[in-house]
Amino acid sequence: MTEKIIRCPICKKPLRFEVDVKDFEPYERFPIPCIIKHNDHWVSLYLDSDMSICDVEIPLVKISLE
Ligand SMILES: [Zn+2]
Repeated sequence: MTEKIIRCPICKKPLRFEVDVKDFEPYERFPIPCIIKHNDHWVSLYLDSDMSICDVEIPLVKISLE
């Protein structure tokens, strides 16, 4: 497990999460999109093959109608 810390773009507080190499097994292409729940909001980012964080974004969160 590798611990990652970013500054949450929504609440500006530190956001910690863990990534494991096994998480990458089903993927053949990088970067991998990753969605993280932080308190009552969500943050999305991309992980590269070396586990580095490429980009951090604020996703528009929607709930399915069904
Ligand atoms: Zn946050």
